Amino acid sequence: MINTVTEINNSEGSQDPQASITFADFGLDPLVLKAVSEQGYNTPTPIQAQAIPYVLAGRDLMGAAQTGTGKTAAFVLPIIQKLLPSASSSASPARHPIRALVLTPTRELAVQVSENAANYSRHTDLRSTVVFGGVDMQPQVSLLRGGIEILIATPGRLLDHIGSKTANLSQVEILVLDEADRMLDMGFLPDLQRIINLIPAKRQTLLFSATFSSEIKKLAQSYLINPVTVEVARQNAAADTVSQVVHFVSSGDKQSAIVKILDSRARLGLTRQCIIFTNSRLGCARLARALERDGIKAGAIHGDKSQGERTLTLDAFKSGAIEVLVATDVAARGLDIPAMPCVINHELPYSAEDFIHRIGRTGRAGSTGDAIALVDDSEKRLLDDIEKLMKRKLPVMPLPEVKPGQTSDPFFYMPYQSNSPSKLDSGPSGQDGVKKAGIISAKPTVGALLGGSKKK
Ligand code: AMP
Repeated sequence: MINTVTEINNSEGSQDPQASITFADFGLDPLVLKAVSEQGYNTPTPIQAQAIPYVLAGRDLMGAAQTGTGKTAAFVLPIIQKLLPSASSSASPARHPIRALVLTPTRELAVQVSENAANYSRHTDLRSTVVFGGVDMQPQVSLLRGGIEILIATPGRLLDHIGSKTANLSQVEILVLDEADRMLDMGFLPDLQRIINLIPAKRQTLLFSATFSSEIKKLAQSYLINPVTVEVARQNAAADTVSQVVHFVSSGDKQSAIVKILDSRARLGLTRQCIIFTNSRLGCARLARALERDGIKAGAIHGDKSQGERTLTLDAFKSGAIEVLVATDVAARGLDIPAMPCVINHELPYSAEDFIHRIGRTGRAGSTGDAIALVDDSEKRLLDDIEKLMKRKLPVMPLPEVKPGQTSDPFFYMPYQSNSPSKLDSGPSGQDGVKKAGIISAKPTVGALLGGSKKK
């Protein structure tokens, strides 16, 4: 295999590719365009604008894209387009071999990708389904036996199906490794190798990853041929629609800090809706219970919860029945919650790359968001690692303070100034001068640190 990366398309500093390109410009079939417009998508996101033409042209591709950038459609739409000529209305399973395989690290991401695939292909004869572990295999077996062109799978369960001969990869034409960095982190490399060895060498391979570590580059060298690289944000950087802030808080005060933060956001007319990340399952469950005791509607999503429980909690979060989702990294992977306004790190993750994934839950697909990190003394080394990876210092601010009896005064806690700039600019002065002065003076600093332009 030839193992070179031939092109770097970095949108930084160049024209916004969204400005001029429409979905119709890709030459997508009207059946696909209809589905796209039914999703309410008007213009392609940068990763879509850059990746779709290459995928349609048959190139192997490395996509440096975080969750929330629209990367799923960036590969699913061209896959549908490429498979359309072989779509069949026949009921015979033989006419519906697996032609595209998408591998994801977690069931949540697999479900998310599969929902997108079903939506985008709804007007075509192409079939898609998802298989993941932790649930009964039998319904998946029935679906696979019926014939499926686009299969989304987690590696372990796919190998189970291959072992029991319910999945055959001999006709796969396109392979996608989604969130490849996470698959490696989770130890899926041996499974990936076994699976890829079963797929014809003459195929198109797409690899998406939020970060490009040396391991990812090695993986790409082994399995991609002459790939093009597309990149929508700086490597190892957060989306510039995310405004970040650090509060130094002792570990014993973190829970009350969260309550303060949520109260101050509510006072500003912002929603309390947020995801709070914790490092351990136990800590996750405990924090959710403690917040409930503080009167905050909270739910926990972590690896000890069954798939059914996770789905129920996620649905409750999406419907607004709970305001705060407390989550561990693995459980949160792949959750698609559009326009998530805020992510709070109750503690910093041990891996700096996980920090980027976590804050990628907000500021998605062009919307803006706040990422708040609560950092105690023991975590300063982790903060250093994160700042090194992101090549920037994160702004440190004091926690919001609510004065006794203060009810109507807009609270000056506004890491992301574009949410409500007028309040920040014209708020009353004097009463809590130090706090206000601190936040107001931080405003240009935050903007300067984030760089780039933000959509208002
Ligand atoms: P993803 O990064 O694939 O998880 O997508 C994040 C969110 O962006 C999902 O809710 C998608 O439905 C949404 N999305 C994808 N493409 C577009 C687009 N072109 N315009 C608006 N929203 C989009």
